[in-house]
Amino acid sequence: MRYLPDIDVKNKKVLVRVDFNVPLEDGVVRDDTRIRSSLKTIDYLQKQGAKVILCSHLGKPKGEKNLKFSLKPVAQRLGELLDKEVKFCPDCIGEIAQSMVKELKSGEVLLLENLRFYPGEQQNDLDFAKELAKLADIYINDAFGVAHRAHASVVGVTKAVKECGAGFLLQKEIEYLSKALKQPKRPFVAIFGGAKVSTKLGILNAFLKKVDKIIVGGAMANTFLSAKGYKLGASLVEVDLLETAREILNKAKKKNVAFYLPVDFICGPGPEEKVGKGVCPFLEIPENEMALDIGPATSILYAEALKDAKTVVWNGPMGAFENPAFSQGSLNLVEDISRVDGLTIVGGGDTDALIHKAGVVEKLSFVSTGGGSFLKFMEGNELPALLALKECEQKKGERK
Ligand code: ADP
Ligand code: MG
Repeated sequence: MRYLPDIDVKNKKVLVRVDFNVPLEDGVVRDDTRIRSSLKTIDYLQKQGAKVILCSHLGKPKGEKNLKFSLKPVAQRLGELLDKEVKFCPDCIGEIAQSMVKELKSGEVLLLENLRFYPGEQQNDLDFAKELAKLADIYINDAFGVAHRAHASVVGVTKAVKECGAGFLLQKEIEYLSKALKQPKRPFVAIFGGAKVSTKLGILNAFLKKVDKIIVGGAMANTFLSAKGYKLGASLVEVDLLETAREILNKAKKKNVAFYLPVDFICGPGPEEKVGKGVCPFLEIPENEMALDIGPATSILYAEALKDAKTVVWNGPMGAFENPAFSQGSLNLVEDISRVDGLTIVGGGDTDALIHKAGVVEKLSFVSTGGGSFLKFMEGNELPALLALKECEQKKGERK
């Protein structure tokens, strides 16, 4: 695969797939983290004298033009961050896009309208991909967030352009995540949380073969405790996964992977409740209450387990952290991980939100911009985006 510094972009039309899928509020960008993540690539291209054409999706317009999902507010915010005019094209393909690209001068930046206003984007339709490719001499992918999706702007487009490569954000994601997967320093500790075991089965099974310890929190832990025969009250439990959970626990035992589960919880009638009902040991969860966060004893236990770690990978909050009444367990964990003297990597949509809320991004080695793509990559899968970039490079070699 090729990376930006190896590509001559001067005076070239460079189409960059970015992940500008940001939350909007009344037509204004509420959180610009994703835009900021792309600045390094955009800034570099500009300074190299490329004609920068940016494309992205935003939300789920379901293949129809719906201005509620327009990227126009993003052009505004990006312009403020770059301190430079960012042009906006009200379509991502067609005559207007072509003529705006034609007028683009070296060093200028143009943002195209939402790719998902066309059904061809998510269908990886080759005709749609060709229309996108028409706009560019070179295609750069810098959108790790959609790297697991075989969409036209991620995969199809690479078949239709002459030259492809990965931007700085994608490069950084690959480098950091690979560092943890290949030859991690030990002890290697994985922490999993969040709502469901079922969405994390792939990574759980893959990591059983790699790590020394697995720490589990969040509603996921309920399913494991239930699989061990404990009563969880009204907590979220995936009853159809109890057997699978038992298999995972057995595998961990066989492979000598220490498997940590909570010993106490903050309980309450539901995740929306203003205040929790207080701490309860895992053996005493009231019948009509839910385990909504890990308790203080569990926090101490997990901090101990992390003390000597040299590599940590974390995905999934320890509780229903959106509600401050049930966020302390996750915040304690954030603190403990940020004190680890080693490689610390965090990924996942909600986990990312939690880390930003806690304001500790700088204290971690790397916070991935991927949710699904992070999980898929860590499972050891070849992501469609990366495969497409490699194939494009191969084809280019064959043509020479
Ligand atoms: P990520 O997006 O980081 O991969 P998930 O989507 O798997 O994380 O899980 C996050 C969700 O899990 C949050 O909405 C959180 O409220 C919920 N959650 C975590 N623990 C619990 C719990 N004990 N009870 C109910 N919901 C929980
Ligand atoms: Mg999530």
